[in-house]
Amino acid sequence: MIVILHPNTDKQSKEYKDVMSILEKLPNISLQHHVVQGEEQKLSEIYLLGDTHKIDQAEIESLDCVERVVRISEEYRILGRHHDEKRTSGFTYNDVHFSQHSFHVLAGLCAVDTPEHVEMMMQALQKHGQVCTRMGAYKPRTNPYSFQGHGEQCLPYVFELAGKYGIKVISMEVTHESHIDEISKALQETGNPTGVMLQIGTRNTQNFELLKVVGRQTQYPVLFKRGYGVSLNESLNAAEYLASEGNSNVVFCLRGMKSEGGAPHRNMVDFGQVPVIKRLTRMPVCVDPSHSVGSREKSPDGILDVAHAAAQGLVAGANLVLVDFHPEPATALVDGPQALLMDELSRFLDDMAKCHEFYQSRKSLWA
Ligand code: PEP
Ligand code: MN
Repeated sequence: MIVILHPNTDKQSKEYKDVMSILEKLPNISLQHHVVQGEEQKLSEIYLLGDTHKIDQAEIESLDCVERVVRISEEYRILGRHHDEKRTSGFTYNDVHFSQHSFHVLAGLCAVDTPEHVEMMMQALQKHGQVCTRMGAYKPRTNPYSFQGHGEQCLPYVFELAGKYGIKVISMEVTHESHIDEISKALQETGNPTGVMLQIGTRNTQNFELLKVVGRQTQYPVLFKRGYGVSLNESLNAAEYLASEGNSNVVFCLRGMKSEGGAPHRNMVDFGQVPVIKRLTRMPVCVDPSHSVGSREKSPDGILDVAHAAAQGLVAGANLVLVDFHPEPATALVDGPQALLMDELSRFLDDMAKCHEFYQSRKSLWA
């Protein structure tokens, strides 16, 4: 059960204290507090966990400063939608808003290699009015002898260059809890020139201990990838681990499923599930066409498969696109074959914006 308080309820007020003292006395119930930062207002939600079926919903709803009470199903308690269309969702991080209505492209390097390439990428993004990117410093690799990412050592120049070119959010995968401290240390030492969205890769979707640690911190939002070999339900439950520990600022990212059925693409494109995730949960949904398609192939219409796949996600309502670019794909240390070229950035961004607009017009058709 979720108790939603009136917007901007003062925690020092008598009404708030009265509600809390009543809720705290409920038998076999534990309380969890969440703050939801919508585009216009801040909402406090109190989750009642445990034996809630005996609670009188109307009685709680009649209390001062309680706006509404929502009964929730067992699954995805915090991130779930629970048939309540009115609940505020989304979050603002470093002045960038993410929700099921927003639209952002996170174009960047799969793996950071040189400061020159990072700078070329950031400069091009700024030129096209972008404030988000992706930069891999810690790379989970199938082969232990493959390049593992420059790690902590590259963070200072990545963050400084992001600041220089007005990039506000960098999606960056972490594969171990120590990486969060390394990111915090580097951000602090460079004077917080940018922000980081912690990426959980598909190989770590069900690394529950990592999810608990990432969920316990609320400084950084999380871009959570769907597991490539588990059901959607299992992946959504895994995302809920983050929220259950306290961090509900989560973007859910589809990246294709491991299956021979997707060949010749690297993975089976699963972007038809974008609307399903938006229906079941309140998370903004991202699609990653680069890791789904895995190549720079074009169809006879001249459009890259990566752009076609991303378009499928966007016309179905995806809110973000995570996509690999590289100034010299032939020398890229990770995933060069799927990286788009710098001179394709402009066209790619235009194409994505058109697809998002097309989704908006589809929406009004059905309204
Ligand atoms: C990535 O985005 O760099 C990555 C490794 O993706 P995934 O976890 O989807 O394989
Ligand atoms: Mn990659």
